[in-house]
Amino acid sequence: MAQIIDGKKLSFEIKDKLKVRINKLKEEKGIVPGLTVILVGEDPASETYVSFKHKDCLEIGVKSTVIRLKEETSQEELLKLIDELNNDNEVHGILVQLPVPDHIDDKQIIRAISPKKDVDGFHVQNAGSLFVGSEGFVACTPKGIIDLIKTTGRSISGQNAVVVGRSNIVGKPVAMLLLEENATVTICHSRTKNLKDICANADILVAAIGIPEYFTGEYIKEGSIVIDVGTSRVDGKLKGDVVFDQAKEKAGFITPVPGGVGPMTRTMLLENTVLAGEIYG
Ligand code: NAP
Repeated sequence: MAQIIDGKKLSFEIKDKLKVRINKLKEEKGIVPGLTVILVGEDPASETYVSFKHKDCLEIGVKSTVIRLKEETSQEELLKLIDELNNDNEVHGILVQLPVPDHIDDKQIIRAISPKKDVDGFHVQNAGSLFVGSEGFVACTPKGIIDLIKTTGRSISGQNAVVVGRSNIVGKPVAMLLLEENATVTICHSRTKNLKDICANADILVAAIGIPEYFTGEYIKEGSIVIDVGTSRVDGKLKGDVVFDQAKEKAGFITPVPGGVGPMTRTMLLENTVLAGEIYG
Protein backbone atom coordinates (compact mmCIF):
# COMPACT_ATOMS: atom_id res chain seq x y z
CA MET A 1 0.00 0.00 0.00
CA ALA A 2 1.44 3.33 -1.14
CA GLN A 3 2.37 6.17 1.14
CA ILE A 4 0.49 9.35 0.28
CA ILE A 5 2.63 12.31 -0.81
CA ASP A 6 0.83 15.15 0.94
CA GLY A 7 1.02 18.26 -1.25
CA LYS A 8 -1.02 20.33 1.19
CA LYS A 9 1.31 19.65 4.10
CA LEU A 10 4.41 20.36 2.01
CA SER A 11 2.82 23.60 0.78
CA PHE A 12 2.22 24.78 4.36
CA GLU A 13 5.84 24.05 5.25
CA ILE A 14 7.13 25.96 2.22
CA LYS A 15 4.78 28.90 2.89
CA ASP A 16 6.09 29.15 6.46
CA LYS A 17 9.63 29.43 5.08
CA LEU A 18 8.51 32.01 2.51
CA LYS A 19 7.03 34.18 5.28
CA VAL A 20 10.44 34.28 6.93
CA ARG A 21 12.10 35.26 3.63
CA ILE A 22 9.52 38.01 3.04
CA ASN A 23 10.11 39.48 6.51
CA LYS A 24 13.85 39.46 5.89
CA LEU A 25 13.38 41.26 2.55
CA LYS A 26 11.20 43.88 4.24
CA GLU A 27 13.57 44.43 7.15
CA GLU A 28 16.83 44.43 5.24
CA LYS A 29 15.87 46.05 1.92
CA GLY A 30 12.40 47.55 2.50
CA ILE A 31 11.03 45.39 -0.33
CA VAL A 32 7.59 43.78 -0.32
CA PRO A 33 7.39 41.22 -3.14
CA GLY A 34 4.47 42.06 -5.41
CA LEU A 35 2.50 39.95 -7.87
CA THR A 36 0.21 41.50 -10.48
CA VAL A 37 -2.27 39.20 -12.18
CA ILE A 38 -4.08 40.34 -15.33
CA LEU A 39 -7.40 38.76 -16.15
CA VAL A 40 -8.97 39.47 -19.54
CA GLY A 41 -12.65 38.62 -19.83
CA GLU A 42 -14.94 36.80 -17.43
CA ASP A 43 -14.17 33.10 -17.72
CA PRO A 44 -15.51 31.59 -14.44
CA ALA A 45 -12.67 29.05 -14.07
CA SER A 46 -10.08 31.80 -14.59
CA GLU A 47 -11.90 33.96 -12.02
CA THR A 48 -11.56 31.13 -9.50
CA TYR A 49 -7.84 30.62 -10.21
CA VAL A 50 -7.18 34.35 -9.92
CA SER A 51 -9.01 34.59 -6.59
CA PHE A 52 -6.95 31.65 -5.26
CA LYS A 53 -3.74 33.42 -6.28
CA HIS A 54 -4.87 36.63 -4.59
CA LYS A 55 -5.76 34.80 -1.38
CA ASP A 56 -2.45 32.87 -1.38
CA CYS A 57 -0.48 36.13 -1.69
CA LEU A 58 -2.33 37.78 1.17
CA GLU A 59 -1.84 34.71 3.37
CA ILE A 60 1.96 35.02 3.33
CA GLY A 61 2.45 38.78 2.89
CA VAL A 62 3.01 39.13 -0.87
CA LYS A 63 1.44 42.30 -2.27
CA SER A 64 -1.27 41.17 -4.67
CA THR A 65 -2.84 43.25 -7.42
CA VAL A 66 -5.49 41.91 -9.77
CA ILE A 67 -6.18 43.90 -12.93
CA ARG A 68 -9.47 42.94 -14.59
CA LEU A 69 -9.82 43.90 -18.24
CA LYS A 70 -12.87 43.68 -20.49
CA GLU A 71 -13.20 40.77 -22.92
CA GLU A 72 -12.85 43.20 -25.86
CA THR A 73 -9.49 44.59 -24.65
CA SER A 74 -7.16 44.80 -27.66
CA GLN A 75 -3.77 43.14 -27.90
CA GLU A 76 -2.15 46.60 -28.09
CA GLU A 77 -3.83 47.73 -24.86
CA LEU A 78 -2.67 44.59 -23.09
CA LEU A 79 0.89 44.98 -24.41
CA LYS A 80 0.94 48.60 -23.22
CA LEU A 81 -0.16 47.54 -19.73
CA ILE A 82 2.52 44.84 -19.58
CA ASP A 83 5.13 47.40 -20.62
CA GLU A 84 4.05 49.67 -17.75
CA LEU A 85 4.22 46.80 -15.27
CA ASN A 86 7.65 45.75 -16.59
CA ASN A 87 8.85 49.22 -15.58
CA ASP A 88 7.10 49.35 -12.20
CA ASN A 89 9.61 48.72 -9.38
CA GLU A 90 6.91 47.55 -6.98
CA VAL A 91 5.84 44.74 -9.30
CA HIS A 92 8.12 41.70 -9.08
CA GLY A 93 5.89 39.15 -10.79
CA ILE A 94 3.50 39.57 -13.73
CA LEU A 95 1.06 36.86 -14.72
CA VAL A 96 -1.53 36.96 -17.48
CA GLN A 97 -4.20 34.41 -16.64
CA LEU A 98 -4.64 31.99 -19.54
CA PRO A 99 -6.57 31.40 -21.69
CA VAL A 100 -6.92 34.91 -23.11
CA PRO A 101 -9.73 35.68 -25.59
CA ASP A 102 -9.18 34.39 -29.15
CA HIS A 103 -8.32 37.78 -30.67
CA ILE A 104 -5.23 38.00 -28.42
CA ASP A 105 -2.05 36.08 -29.29
CA ASP A 106 -1.02 34.48 -25.99
CA LYS A 107 2.53 33.67 -27.22
CA GLN A 108 3.18 37.32 -28.02
CA ILE A 109 1.72 38.40 -24.67
CA ILE A 110 3.96 36.03 -22.71
CA ARG A 111 6.99 37.19 -24.69
CA ALA A 112 6.19 40.79 -23.75
CA ILE A 113 6.54 40.06 -20.03
CA SER A 114 10.05 40.78 -18.78
CA PRO A 115 11.78 37.40 -18.17
CA LYS A 116 12.79 38.87 -14.79
CA LYS A 117 9.10 39.14 -13.83
CA ASP A 118 7.87 35.99 -15.59
CA VAL A 119 7.05 34.11 -12.38
CA ASP A 120 4.99 31.56 -14.35
CA GLY A 121 8.21 30.54 -16.13
CA PHE A 122 6.46 30.49 -19.53
CA HIS A 123 8.67 33.05 -21.33
CA VAL A 124 10.87 31.49 -24.04
CA GLN A 125 13.95 32.81 -22.26
CA ASN A 126 13.03 31.01 -19.03
CA ALA A 127 11.94 27.85 -20.89
CA GLY A 128 15.28 28.00 -22.79
CA SER A 129 17.25 28.46 -19.56
CA LEU A 130 15.71 25.26 -18.25
CA PHE A 131 16.73 23.50 -21.47
CA VAL A 132 20.38 24.55 -21.25
CA GLY A 133 20.54 24.22 -17.46
CA SER A 134 21.05 27.87 -16.53
CA GLU A 135 19.30 30.13 -14.02
CA GLY A 136 15.74 31.25 -14.68
CA PHE A 137 12.18 30.96 -13.43
CA VAL A 138 10.90 27.39 -13.64
CA ALA A 139 7.21 26.79 -14.39
CA CYS A 140 5.25 26.24 -11.18
CA THR A 141 3.69 22.80 -11.71
CA PRO A 142 6.94 21.06 -12.80
CA LYS A 143 8.88 22.77 -10.01
CA GLY A 144 6.33 21.58 -7.44
CA ILE A 145 6.42 18.04 -8.84
CA ILE A 146 10.17 17.75 -8.23
CA ASP A 147 9.70 18.92 -4.63
CA LEU A 148 6.94 16.34 -4.16
CA ILE A 149 9.16 13.54 -5.49
CA LYS A 150 12.01 14.64 -3.21
CA THR A 151 9.82 14.31 -0.10
CA THR A 152 9.85 10.53 -0.62
CA GLY A 153 13.52 10.57 0.38
CA ARG A 154 14.40 8.47 -2.68
CA SER A 155 17.13 9.56 -5.03
CA ILE A 156 15.90 10.51 -8.52
CA SER A 157 19.34 9.85 -10.01
CA GLY A 158 19.42 6.80 -12.28
CA GLN A 159 15.69 6.14 -11.92
CA ASN A 160 13.57 5.30 -14.92
CA ALA A 161 11.17 8.28 -15.13
CA VAL A 162 8.23 8.28 -17.52
CA VAL A 163 6.36 11.52 -18.23
CA VAL A 164 3.05 11.13 -20.05
CA GLY A 165 2.09 14.43 -21.71
CA ARG A 166 4.31 16.87 -23.60
CA SER A 167 2.75 20.27 -23.00
CA ASN A 168 4.95 23.33 -22.59
CA ILE A 169 3.62 23.96 -19.10
CA VAL A 170 3.83 20.46 -17.61
CA GLY A 171 5.22 17.55 -19.65
CA LYS A 172 8.25 19.09 -21.34
CA PRO A 173 9.55 21.13 -18.39
CA VAL A 174 9.06 18.32 -15.87
CA ALA A 175 10.99 15.99 -18.20
CA MET A 176 13.83 18.54 -18.33
CA LEU A 177 13.91 18.84 -14.53
CA LEU A 178 13.98 15.07 -14.11
CA LEU A 179 16.84 14.89 -16.60
CA GLU A 180 18.64 17.60 -14.61
CA GLU A 181 18.22 15.30 -11.57
CA ASN A 182 19.90 12.52 -13.60
CA ALA A 183 16.84 10.36 -14.17
CA THR A 184 16.58 8.37 -17.40
CA VAL A 185 13.58 10.10 -18.93
CA THR A 186 10.99 8.87 -21.42
CA ILE A 187 8.40 11.36 -22.70
CA CYS A 188 5.13 9.84 -23.95
CA HIS A 189 2.17 11.41 -25.76
CA SER A 190 -0.94 10.54 -27.73
CA ARG A 191 1.01 8.80 -30.51
CA THR A 192 3.13 6.67 -28.17
CA LYS A 193 2.92 2.94 -28.81
CA ASN A 194 2.80 0.42 -25.97
CA LEU A 195 2.14 3.12 -23.38
CA LYS A 196 1.05 0.59 -20.78
CA ASP A 197 4.32 -1.37 -21.02
CA ILE A 198 6.43 1.78 -20.85
CA CYS A 199 4.56 3.04 -17.76
CA ALA A 200 4.67 -0.37 -16.09
CA ASN A 201 8.48 -0.06 -16.08
CA ALA A 202 8.54 3.44 -14.60
CA ASP A 203 10.19 3.97 -11.23
CA ILE A 204 8.69 7.46 -11.39
CA LEU A 205 5.48 8.01 -13.36
CA VAL A 206 4.23 11.55 -14.03
CA ALA A 207 0.71 11.36 -15.48
CA ALA A 208 -0.29 14.62 -17.19
CA ILE A 209 -2.77 13.96 -19.99
CA GLY A 210 -6.02 15.36 -18.61
CA ILE A 211 -8.09 12.19 -19.13
CA PRO A 212 -9.79 11.21 -15.86
CA GLU A 213 -8.77 7.85 -14.42
CA TYR A 214 -6.91 6.69 -17.53
CA PHE A 215 -4.03 5.01 -15.71
CA THR A 216 -5.34 1.79 -14.18
CA GLY A 217 -3.32 -0.46 -11.88
CA GLU A 218 -1.79 -2.23 -14.90
CA TYR A 219 0.17 0.93 -15.75
CA ILE A 220 1.83 1.06 -12.36
CA LYS A 221 5.13 -0.57 -11.37
CA GLU A 222 5.32 -2.16 -7.90
CA GLY A 223 6.88 0.25 -5.41
CA SER A 224 7.07 3.17 -7.85
CA ILE A 225 6.46 6.89 -7.30
CA VAL A 226 3.26 8.06 -9.00
CA ILE A 227 2.62 11.77 -9.55
CA ASP A 228 -0.91 12.50 -10.77
CA VAL A 229 -1.05 15.92 -12.40
CA GLY A 230 -4.44 15.55 -14.06
CA THR A 231 -7.39 17.56 -12.89
CA SER A 232 -10.73 16.90 -14.56
CA ARG A 233 -14.20 17.70 -13.23
CA VAL A 234 -16.44 14.62 -13.28
CA ASP A 235 -19.94 15.05 -11.84
CA GLY A 236 -18.70 18.05 -9.89
CA LYS A 237 -15.77 16.11 -8.38
CA LEU A 238 -12.10 16.62 -9.15
CA LYS A 239 -10.51 13.52 -10.71
CA GLY A 240 -6.90 12.78 -11.52
CA ASP A 241 -5.51 10.89 -14.51
CA VAL A 242 -4.76 7.87 -12.29
CA VAL A 243 -7.23 5.35 -10.82
CA PHE A 244 -6.12 6.14 -7.30
CA ASP A 245 -7.56 3.07 -5.54
CA GLN A 246 -5.84 0.70 -7.96
CA ALA A 247 -2.54 2.57 -8.17
CA LYS A 248 -2.16 2.89 -4.40
CA GLU A 249 -2.20 -0.92 -4.09
CA LYS A 250 0.96 -1.13 -6.22
CA ALA A 251 2.88 2.14 -5.94
CA GLY A 252 5.32 2.96 -3.15
CA PHE A 253 4.28 6.63 -3.10
CA ILE A 254 1.39 8.45 -4.74
CA THR A 255 -0.04 11.97 -4.90
CA PRO A 256 -3.80 12.33 -4.33
CA VAL A 257 -6.15 14.52 -6.40
CA PRO A 258 -7.01 16.90 -4.89
CA GLY A 259 -4.26 17.62 -2.37
CA GLY A 260 -1.15 16.63 -4.35
CA VAL A 261 0.20 18.64 -7.26
CA GLY A 262 -2.44 21.40 -7.14
CA PRO A 263 -1.43 23.04 -3.83
CA MET A 264 2.23 22.86 -4.85
CA THR A 265 1.55 24.68 -8.14
CA ARG A 266 -0.02 27.52 -6.15
CA THR A 267 2.83 27.60 -3.68
CA MET A 268 5.53 27.61 -6.36
CA LEU A 269 4.01 30.77 -7.83
CA LEU A 270 4.52 32.41 -4.44
CA GLU A 271 8.06 31.05 -4.24
CA ASN A 272 8.92 32.44 -7.69
CA THR A 273 7.47 35.84 -6.73
CA VAL A 274 9.52 35.98 -3.53
CA LEU A 275 12.58 34.89 -5.51
CA ALA A 276 11.95 37.70 -8.02
CA GLY A 277 11.86 40.17 -5.13
CA GLU A 278 15.08 38.77 -3.69
CA ILE A 279 17.01 38.72 -6.98
CA TYR A 280 15.71 41.76 -8.83
CA GLY A 281 13.93 43.71 -6.05
P1 NAP B 1 -2.46 19.45 -22.55
O1 NAP B 1 -1.76 20.68 -23.01
O2 NAP B 1 -3.84 19.16 -23.04
O3 NAP B 1 -1.53 18.20 -22.90
C1 NAP B 1 -1.97 16.91 -22.75
C2 NAP B 1 -0.88 15.96 -23.20
O4 NAP B 1 -1.34 14.63 -22.99
C3 NAP B 1 -0.51 16.09 -24.67
O5 NAP B 1 0.88 16.06 -24.82
C4 NAP B 1 -1.16 14.85 -25.31
O6 NAP B 1 -0.43 14.32 -26.38
C5 NAP B 1 -1.12 13.87 -24.15
N1 NAP B 1 -2.16 12.85 -24.29
C6 NAP B 1 -3.48 13.06 -24.49
N2 NAP B 1 -4.13 11.87 -24.55
C7 NAP B 1 -3.19 10.92 -24.39
C8 NAP B 1 -3.22 9.52 -24.37
N3 NAP B 1 -4.36 8.83 -24.51
N4 NAP B 1 -2.08 8.85 -24.17
C9 NAP B 1 -0.90 9.51 -24.02
N5 NAP B 1 -0.81 10.85 -24.03
C10 NAP B 1 -1.93 11.55 -24.22
O7 NAP B 1 -2.56 19.40 -20.98
P2 NAP B 1 -1.67 20.07 -19.81
O8 NAP B 1 -1.90 21.52 -19.80
O9 NAP B 1 -0.29 19.54 -19.85
O10 NAP B 1 -2.42 19.46 -18.54
C11 NAP B 1 -2.54 18.06 -18.34
C12 NAP B 1 -3.45 17.81 -17.15
O11 NAP B 1 -2.84 18.37 -16.00
C13 NAP B 1 -4.83 18.47 -17.24
O12 NAP B 1 -5.77 17.66 -16.57
C14 NAP B 1 -4.65 19.76 -16.48
O13 NAP B 1 -5.87 20.24 -15.94
C15 NAP B 1 -3.73 19.29 -15.39
N6 NAP B 1 -2.93 20.36 -14.78
C16 NAP B 1 -2.93 20.41 -13.44
C17 NAP B 1 -2.16 21.34 -12.80
C18 NAP B 1 -2.17 21.38 -11.32
O14 NAP B 1 -1.65 22.33 -10.74
N7 NAP B 1 -2.70 20.38 -10.65
C19 NAP B 1 -1.40 22.26 -13.54
C20 NAP B 1 -1.37 22.16 -14.92
C21 NAP B 1 -2.16 21.19 -15.54
P3 NAP B 1 -0.22 15.10 -27.79
O15 NAP B 1 0.83 16.14 -27.52
O16 NAP B 1 0.24 14.04 -28.72
O17 NAP B 1 -1.55 15.68 -28.14
